[in-house]
Amino acid sequence: MSSSSLDQRALIEEIIRRLRTVLGEARTPVLLHQPLFAGNESKYIQQCIDTGWVSSAGSFVTQLEHQLAQFTGARHAIAVVNGTAALHIALMLAGVERDSEVLMPSLTFIATANAAAYCGAVPHFCDVSLRTLGIDAARLDDHLALVAELRPEGCINHRTGRRIAAVVPMHTFGHPVNLSKLLEVAAKWHIPVVEDAAESLGSYYRQKHTGTFGGLGILSFNGNKTVTTGAGGAILTDDDDLARRARHITTTAKAPHPWEYVHDELGYNYRMPNLNAALGCAQLEKLPELLDRKRRLAHAYAQAMADLSGVSLFVEPPDCKSNYWLNALVLDRADFDLRDQLLAALNAANLQSRPIWRPMQQLPMYRDCPRMDLSTTEDLAARIVNIPSSPGLVRPSN
Ligand SMILES: *Cc1c(COP(=O)(O)O)cnc(C)c1O
Repeated sequence: MSSSSLDQRALIEEIIRRLRTVLGEARTPVLLHQPLFAGNESKYIQQCIDTGWVSSAGSFVTQLEHQLAQFTGARHAIAVVNGTAALHIALMLAGVERDSEVLMPSLTFIATANAAAYCGAVPHFCDVSLRTLGIDAARLDDHLALVAELRPEGCINHRTGRRIAAVVPMHTFGHPVNLSKLLEVAAKWHIPVVEDAAESLGSYYRQKHTGTFGGLGILSFNGNKTVTTGAGGAILTDDDDLARRARHITTTAKAPHPWEYVHDELGYNYRMPNLNAALGCAQLEKLPELLDRKRRLAHAYAQAMADLSGVSLFVEPPDCKSNYWLNALVLDRADFDLRDQLLAALNAANLQSRPIWRPMQQLPMYRDCPRMDLSTTEDLAARIVNIPSSPGLVRPSN
């Protein structure tokens, strides 16, 4: 056996030993992310059943929208069936159309690319920054200088002839991207910004909530996100007109009338049901506590991993407050063999762990999409392992 594989085995054992100082012995599987229901969840869902308001009309949906707007500081929040649907509609409203291009990180969950494809648009992949795990705006600027030009009809990719209709920064694991640089580059190239804040409810860039920087932003309340509605999502915007449009086309574009079925454009059946919103209202009441628990778990991990050579815990970028949705171990060097052995050992030790997503350009349906140099994405894909991040893993603080 080579000395490097001995070192690898020692490193993996040491990581597990240190994780156990935070998580205990883990006699049963410690899941990657489990929701915590410690408030009014049952009570509100029972109210839906008792009143009969379970579907896409009902007071919890509007209440959830108000709570979201208040928490994030967005003027409007529109609740929908999931985060992918929210992104689909947000991109449409930003002007993404058939045969346009949408700039997005190559290191993201599939929903970001799929939402663009649902609009008939083509994802255009951007590399990420080591510091934020999100779009590297300075390098995007350099890339646009090579492939794009400003014409009266907008920013055109002169290699493909397609219009670049939007840029979608995504806040990976809840860590905000460098929004000031990204907004500067987007403004310079006249590209609308739609934030994929699916993972970053409770994350702030310079004290402003993520998802509120672009013309539109979206959140997800999937079962594994910081706050869950079972499945759900929301569109955020400060623009009254866009909010009205979003509400209209996510409710089948039905014109208001006491009994007539008149739909005045192509709409979608994307409204969040009241049952799901009831769960969300109860979850949002507990959001400050959930965020506090997640921050303390991340802190405990960072301390446990301190001074261990070979690996570190990813911590929030400067000027940012992260929700620490998913904690990530980052190996010092890209090494798929070590990453996979670590994943196998962690899962065998009852510590549920996952690699980061397969980069989008490696998936069959997105293989031929335009892209910039993606070397940091490729590097990070061989270095990141997500570890258990449920808020229930730490005790509430008093
Ligand atoms: C979770 C997520 C979404 C939305 O997912 P849904 O399951 O449709 O709610 C979108 N983008 C990213 C990056 C996500 O992590």
